[in-house]
Amino acid sequence: MSSFFDLEFQNNNIDAKIAAGLERLSNAFRVMLWEQAKEHTLSPIQIQILIFLKYHDQKFLTVSYLAKEMNVTKPTISDAVKALDQKSLIKKSNDLEDTRSYSIQLTSSGKKMVEKTESYGLPLQQLISKMKGSNKEVVWEMVSSLIHELNKSNIISVQRTCFNCSFYKGGTANRCTLLDLPLKPLDIRIDCPEFIAL
Ligand code: SF4
Repeated sequence: MSSFFDLEFQNNNIDAKIAAGLERLSNAFRVMLWEQAKEHTLSPIQIQILIFLKYHDQKFLTVSYLAKEMNVTKPTISDAVKALDQKSLIKKSNDLEDTRSYSIQLTSSGKKMVEKTESYGLPLQQLISKMKGSNKEVVWEMVSSLIHELNKSNIISVQRTCFNCSFYKGGTANRCTLLDLPLKPLDIRIDCPEFIAL
């Protein structure tokens, strides 16, 4: 299969055009994140860690889990956590059963930094809010299923999505058996607090 960077191929192939467009969108997020990082003298991964800490359960707030979540190595996360600790944006709590392990929490300065940085993707969200509802449904179905397929191919390692959840009942009428609700395409979640892995 030809590369979507080959313009002659890309401009005559809808699959290549969509892949190239998604690549452009991922660049847009990178640019917006870098702008915030420069403004607050942080690295992009440090901002991503701070935001993740604010919105996720304590059980996920370890170096190992963050490495899987962000698709980077444990030393990369350890270095970022050390830098955040030196800036007093996070604090570490030792695991009483395993003294080599610790979990990470935001300090009050860390919470304030999240408030300043977490809207870095807002320009894109505002553009999406102007789309027609029926178009949003199509886009969401595509995005959620692509994420699921990338996870199955081990390209994205962690997914707390309905498709991987023990409460998901597929078939003719998809359901969440925990919330006892039908799951229409718009109801599928990609980061659910109630998620339990299959
Ligand atoms: S618990 Fe959450 S992730 Fe699991 S099926 Fe229900 S809505 Fe989806």
